[in-house]
Amino acid sequence: MIKKILKPFKSMSVITFVTDIFCFCVASVIIILAGVAINRSDIIDNTRDSAAGYLDELSDKLVLNAYFVNSSENTAMNSEMYLMADKFDGRILVINSDLKCIFDTYNVETDKTFVSSDVINALKDISGEKRDDDLEIIELYHPIKSTPSISGDSELKGVIIFSFSIADAFSVSDRLGKSLHLLVFPCIILMFFIGSFHARYVTSPIKTMTKSLNHVSEGYFDDKLEIRSFKEYEDMTDAVNNMLSKLNSMENSRQEFVSNVSHELKTPLTSIKILADSLVQQPEAPLEVYQEFLGDINAEIDRENRIITDLLELVKLDRKNGEMHIAMVSINELLEILMKRIKPIAQSHNVDMIYESHRKVDAEVDEVKLTLAISNLVENAVKYNKEGGWVKVTLDSDHRYFVVTVSDSGIGIPEESLDMIFDRFYRVDKMRARKTGGTGLGLSITKSVVLMHNGQLKVESKEGEGTTFICKIPMSFIEKPGIE
Ligand code: ADP
Repeated sequence: MIKKILKPFKSMSVITFVTDIFCFCVASVIIILAGVAINRSDIIDNTRDSAAGYLDELSDKLVLNAYFVNSSENTAMNSEMYLMADKFDGRILVINSDLKCIFDTYNVETDKTFVSSDVINALKDISGEKRDDDLEIIELYHPIKSTPSISGDSELKGVIIFSFSIADAFSVSDRLGKSLHLLVFPCIILMFFIGSFHARYVTSPIKTMTKSLNHVSEGYFDDKLEIRSFKEYEDMTDAVNNMLSKLNSMENSRQEFVSNVSHELKTPLTSIKILADSLVQQPEAPLEVYQEFLGDINAEIDRENRIITDLLELVKLDRKNGEMHIAMVSINELLEILMKRIKPIAQSHNVDMIYESHRKVDAEVDEVKLTLAISNLVENAVKYNKEGGWVKVTLDSDHRYFVVTVSDSGIGIPEESLDMIFDRFYRVDKMRARKTGGTGLGLSITKSVVLMHNGQLKVESKEGEGTTFICKIPMSFIEKPGIE
């Protein structure tokens, strides 16, 4: 139930819209409250200032007119005070130094003793002020002092308490608040339109991108996104287009690989079929023919087997992060064992094997994979060699890398083929490769392994003279960082 209610709030456009409206409402409330408060305090300050000014004047007049000698007969002063109290919608009380109220515009406290801390403070020449927002009044306590004598002293004659209404300030600011409230409603409607435009503007590029990506996911990898909006969206579009072009080239090479695999797997099968058919059509054929044909069939089956083994090896390597079993390995020992294993094959081809190690090298590698990679290079050096030729394997290192070089005195590789020999199923001379049992996958396996070790593989060759493969690998294995 709650999930259902919250569902719309997962939408970026709803959140943007709601946030806009919310921010506007909060800003409006703050502006109205601040406006009303400032306006109210301005009016109150003005009223207080004019009341205080009047009090100064009144206090001087009371002293000049000797009001404290006979207050009740000072009708002029009394009527002025009535008038003033009326003007401020307030009340004026005059208290003498004996704390006796000698005048009250309300005629309630006259002749009564008036004791309050504010009056006592005022008699000590400390003015006071009290504000009551519930009653909407302010009370000012003003000391009345005689004119200073020659010595500069002045005598405190009494206190004026002037309470006046600030109801006007409240009503004026309330009215202002109400008018601002009235403005808010049309503004909210306007904000409604601005908010929905804003939400649409922000989210429409994302909608376009989703639509395009859905189209791409149907297999249209050569699609390009065209979103020209905020810079962040443009950056994202460029990144997606980059990814798409990589996907596109991966898809192309996948298709090419599949068609190559099918072709390569079909070739031995076609040969087997032809050989078997011709045997079937010659039931009277002599035993030697049978033996020869079956020998050929056997060789084709071996070939098919080799292709499948190499393919499985490649698939294993292709798997992302194709599990590396890294350990500290003596590269000298690895090469010695490898040379010992290939020596009999070389001897059968009448090819000399030379191994030269310049120093002892221990490195962090995947022993099985590296053995496979270098075996491919050395086996090729033997396969594509001449009668009486040689194969030389050297090992050297500096503090960061070790370098294995495999050179031979063989047939060499034509310059135009050098760029392609690492491609899957590429063979310079298909007929020769067939004779030597080549699948065209060996060098791609070697290249993948070297790259998995963050190394480099280079080739130098001269047709008819020989070939050198240089394999440079870091001594310490560095794992490639994944995307966080
Ligand atoms: P293959 O199984 O055919 O040997 P590779 O991927 O190992 O496949 O090699 C690709 C091609 O590169 C070979 O068919 C061969 O033509 C050429 N090649 C590789 N190594 C050598 C070499 N040492 N000398 C001459 N040609 C070579």
